[in-house]
Formats: sequence, C-alpha cells, structure tokens
Amino acid sequence: MRATTIHGAFDIRVTDVPDPEVLRPTDALVEVSATCVCGSDLWPYRGINEVRAGSRIGHEFVGIVRDVGSEVTTVQPGEFVIAPFAWGDNTCRVCRAGVNTSCENGGWWGARDRESLPVDGGQGQWVRVPLADGTLVSTPSVPDDTLLPDLLTLSDVMGTGWHCALGASVAAGDTVAVIGDGAVGLCAVLSAKLMGATTIIAMSRHTARQEIATEFGATHLVPERGADGIARVLEITEGLGVDAALECVGTDDAMQTAIAVARPGGRIGYVGVPHDIVLPMETMFGRNLRLGGGVAPVRQYIPALRDLVLAGEIHPGRVFDLTVPLEEIPEAYAAMDQRRAIKAMVLP
Ligand SMILES: [Zn+2]
Repeated sequence: MRATTIHGAFDIRVTDVPDPEVLRPTDALVEVSATCVCGSDLWPYRGINEVRAGSRIGHEFVGIVRDVGSEVTTVQPGEFVIAPFAWGDNTCRVCRAGVNTSCENGGWWGARDRESLPVDGGQGQWVRVPLADGTLVSTPSVPDDTLLPDLLTLSDVMGTGWHCALGASVAAGDTVAVIGDGAVGLCAVLSAKLMGATTIIAMSRHTARQEIATEFGATHLVPERGADGIARVLEITEGLGVDAALECVGTDDAMQTAIAVARPGGRIGYVGVPHDIVLPMETMFGRNLRLGGGVAPVRQYIPALRDLVLAGEIHPGRVFDLTVPLEEIPEAYAAMDQRRAIKAMVLP
C-alpha cells in the first residue's frame, strides 16, 4: 500500500510500505477514507523535532473497518469508524480516570506497539489498529461523504479544542479569549460557544480564519499580538481580563499572552504542544491563576461530539480549506507550513 513517510526537514514522501494485517486478536484493519495533516506534524516537518528517516507519520483518520481479530466485539467489518490520535484500551486505570492518552497499554500511530509489532501511521491507505475495542468509535451507519471533514476533526483538533475549553472550565456566561487561530484554536472557539460562553475573543489576524472564528461563535476579533494584543483584550473586558484564556499554540509568547489576559482567579486551558515555555509561577500565584489541559484524551469526547456532528449541530470540518489526494501530500505540508492553508484533508 501507499503511505506517507518523513525523511528529514521539509522532506515528506509517499512510498510503498508493507500491507498491514491483523496481527493480534484485538486488532482491526481499517481502510482509510480520509486523513489530514496536523499542526503538530509541522514540528518534525520543520526539523524542530528530530525524526528517523523513513518514519511513518500521521495520526488523524477515519475509515471503514475491513477485518477484525477474533476478540474484537465493538466494531465490525463494513462499519465507519473514527480513530483518536492515540490508541489504547479505554479500560485500564488511567483510561477510566479519563486520560486515554496515557493508557497503560496504549501507544501512538506510526510507531511499534508494546510487542514491537508495527502500527501504521494515519497518513496512508490502510491502518492496523491495535486494541480496536478501546480505540475506535463507530457511527450508526456509514455517513455521507459530505460529513467526512466534520467527523475527521474528531480524531484530533475538535477534541483538542474541546479539551482546552474543558481544561479552563468554561461555563455559561463566561468571557473567553482564544490564543491561536489554527484549526485547534478555531475548534476551541466552537467549544467555548457550545459550553455557553457569551463573549469570545478570538486572537487572529488572518481574514479567512477570522471568518471561521466568527462563524464558530467569536464575538470579538483581536488581530494584534504581544503587548498590543493583551492591551486590546483588557480594553474589551474593561480592564478586568477574561474568565478563561485558551492557549492553542504552544509557544512561550502564546502562553504569556494567556496568562496576561486572564483575570485574577481566571483559568487557563492549554493544549498547544509546549515548546520552550517558562511559567511565571510568582505571577500566577499572586493572581490565583489556574492551569488545566495537556495532551487531549480525545477518545473520551468522540461519542458526544460525533452525535453533535450527525445531528448537524456543529460543522468543525470548516477548518479544512485544502483537500489533496495522498500522492500530493507534500503540497499539503508545504501549504500548512507556509500558512497558505489552515488544515489540509488528504484522500487516499
Ligand atoms: Zn488504558
């Protein structure tokens, strides 16, 4: 089959790799209907995270189950499934505590499992899914192709935006600021809206992203960054700051902005993959700021978000503004890297 491999900085290829098979009785084999490129894929793409040449990549996909091992009970061949960006059993102590991304028996796409058996990356034609019962979430019937983008966001960005808003305990009537206008930031806007926030300030300076933010529920747009951006948010909140600041980037600048715009006693949700962030603990102590978030256990959120998508109540798939066939995935990476695209969907 064909799948995406990364060979170094700015070197993404589509290559022939072995066809996956059911290797364990708890496996499922999924034929990928749609996958996508994640903002976090850009860290290794830009050479910021080291890679082993030829590694598989991609962790977001939806598709059709084609085969299952003898112990799989919750999904069957022919069913449409959504995969979270980490696989796991959904039954261990850690999963039961709600943190599937730290599953005691789980792991990541594109790496080896705990028995050193190969697990495919998401950006390919087929994926061997370990612990299928705990990993995959099916839909009641095979959805129409027009729902693919919405359902695909549940693999990562929509669940991650949701986790950010949850980490900041966003509640009805809240004033919220969202730092970051990538797909996760936009999904955080939508999540804050779903949780009842009444004032949602999206910090974004790109017209196309501002439009989606507004569609998703943003009431204010702040194009400025740094000190000017902070000043604008404080002006909007009459000097108080926001109840909840949602940090969806992962840089020190973004985190310092989140801390600066939170009101005393405010909450900061954080889901950007942190790169060189230094927390000002004394400031946070003095202003009673609370921090909640981390790598999102999206598996927990897929069933409820799936139902909202199938009911037509949310359209998080709006974040996809580029679709390419698998063979052209290098262009999808380049477009996202150069910010010509918010998020690229890839059709195998
Ligand atoms: Zn687990």
